[in-house]
Amino acid sequence: MIVAMKTDATNEEIERVVERISSFGLKALNMPGGERTAIGIASAIPPELRETLAEILESMPGVDRVTHVSRTYKLASREFHPIDTVVTIKGVQIGSNEVVVAAGPCAIESREQLLAAAKAVKDAGGKVLRGGAFKPRTSPYSFQGLGVEGLKLLKEVGEQTGLVTITEVMDQHDLQVVLDHADILQIGARNMQNYPLLTAVGKSDRPVVIKRGPSATIDEWLLAAEYVLAQGNSNVILCERGVHPLDREHTRYTLDLSAVPVVKFLSHLPVIVDPSHACGNWRFVAAMSKAAVAAGADGLLIEVHPNPSTALCDGAQSLKLESFATLMHDLRAVATAVGRKIEFGASS
Ligand code: PEP
Ligand code: MN
Repeated sequence: MIVAMKTDATNEEIERVVERISSFGLKALNMPGGERTAIGIASAIPPELRETLAEILESMPGVDRVTHVSRTYKLASREFHPIDTVVTIKGVQIGSNEVVVAAGPCAIESREQLLAAAKAVKDAGGKVLRGGAFKPRTSPYSFQGLGVEGLKLLKEVGEQTGLVTITEVMDQHDLQVVLDHADILQIGARNMQNYPLLTAVGKSDRPVVIKRGPSATIDEWLLAAEYVLAQGNSNVILCERGVHPLDREHTRYTLDLSAVPVVKFLSHLPVIVDPSHACGNWRFVAAMSKAAVAAGADGLLIEVHPNPSTALCDGAQSLKLESFATLMHDLRAVATAVGRKIEFGASS
């Protein structure tokens, strides 16, 4: 349920509505907007109370109208929060008019590798450096990432280049060390329904990118976001990265680009797209990146590597640094065509 206050409602009137909601043992969330304040009820309202509560709240001074949120997710829904959320970290805004590009290697391998990738990302106009330190690998014999050593390199290179950083947190026990070294937390596709992990990241105030599980429906994905939002962390970004394919021969997953406008319709949260894991093949990454921007994505998460043929992880889907620069150039034209922008870097 959401209570829209009148545009001229006073702070006292808002406070009284919050207190009235709390008096029923329900959690009220004050959401000041540009024009007016809305108060959301985040807890489940017992069905027998629903009508009475709506009547009580509607008759209170300063209240404009009361709306029921029909979706199973509440805080993530656009019904609850009609205005687009913009997540800001160190001056980078995700969910604004600017399309934000995050790029970097699948896994951090060395200082040289990460720095070369970071410089290229920055020069081409990328804003965020990605790099995995804790890697979720299908085989226990594959390279598992450099762990804390990798996080240290990410922090160092992020500071050196001025790029915001993102890395995956795989386990809630690693959360503190990841918070100490990176700016944005990434929940991997395999962990989208790891509820203790979602709850733990929800207790921090750090931006969280939640990747869609390859078998997850859009509602399940939004409910994963709800876990983070319900803990009080409103800095949630959704990332489409491909769902289980009919045909694994040519692509690794199937990029569900329709998820972008669908999620934008259902939710106020920013949506970004990872074409690299979806395609699994660098040849298709540029086309799907452009398509994602055309479909309304707020950002991209792209794997790049100075020498993909030697990559310890996901080399086949990683763009070379020159191809990334070309892609950034082409993406600007697509962004302009759909009324968005991508900032220039030193070499673009
Ligand atoms: C990644 O981005 O490094 C990754 C492992 O992706 P996903 O969780 O989408 O498989
Ligand atoms: Mn990868």
